[in-house]
Amino acid sequence: MNLVEVIREFKTDEECRKYLEFLRWPDGIRCNRCSSSNIRRLSVEVKIGRKGHKRTELREVIECKICEYQFTVTAGTIFHDSHLPLTKWFLVVALMCESKKGISANQIKRALGCQYRTAWYLCHRIRKAMESGDLFTGKLGSDGGIVESDETYIGGKFDRRRKRARYEKPAVMGMLERQGRIKVKMIPTASRKVLLDNLQAYVSEDVKYVATDELKAYKSLGKMFPHQSVNHGTLEWVRGDVHTNGIESFWSLFKRGLIGTYHQVSTKHLSRYLSESEYRFNRRKEHNLFSQTLGHLLTTDKMTYAELIEKNKEVVPF
Ligand SMILES: [Zn+2]
Repeated sequence: MNLVEVIREFKTDEECRKYLEFLRWPDGIRCNRCSSSNIRRLSVEVKIGRKGHKRTELREVIECKICEYQFTVTAGTIFHDSHLPLTKWFLVVALMCESKKGISANQIKRALGCQYRTAWYLCHRIRKAMESGDLFTGKLGSDGGIVESDETYIGGKFDRRRKRARYEKPAVMGMLERQGRIKVKMIPTASRKVLLDNLQAYVSEDVKYVATDELKAYKSLGKMFPHQSVNHGTLEWVRGDVHTNGIESFWSLFKRGLIGTYHQVSTKHLSRYLSESEYRFNRRKEHNLFSQTLGHLLTTDKMTYAELIEKNKEVVPF
């Protein structure tokens, strides 16, 4: 579903609720407490809105005929405590699924006409749902394909004179299956042990070979997997099928997104931005990204605003 379709299909909160109901109970509603399917629908007047903007609205409540428990479609989900209308949630999910390089809280703020803080919090909760949806299943290269591995540092200019960055730059490792999936993660350092441990965790023994650059840390990789490398130092970037262009273009897309869209990202939140990019990349050929993401939002754990901002001091400038 693209943005235009989302806007057309979900004009009212009622339409959104119907859709969430379908996603939550595809085989018909079940009681939240006793799992009975013997339910009835009631119309109940509820008070909504914040102080000074309180209004009442008729809302459908589901009642279990067996245990008389009453609940709503959004009960126990992230949507329940939110004062934002569901139509706005739906719109932002669609925007985040659609934009290849990500979308900033400022763009969301303008699109929704809400406060920056509201937009920022909303984006992070959706990102968290994407993160929870990205469970790693099946090792990379298990179909006998080529896997590229590379590492990069995020943010800041390298200080040539002092031969190091002006602050500790977060290191990120990526493994990419040609024509397939990607796995990216923050790592403490790009040391031999860390890189090899991660390759062992995420790459299948059936891999055709692992393609890397000539980093010393990869020297003993040949003992674990068939290994091919290109020597960027001698300006060799491609030798036949051997190259790391796939993972490098992922880095450049990700970094351009950080620079052009977000401007700065704290190291604390970096892994969530990485997960968002990984999530979109791994689903780039799927057409139901929007409903999948809503599905993850229905099951993801709540994250309060206080949890999100705690110890949020470190910032990576660009
Ligand atoms: Zn019940």
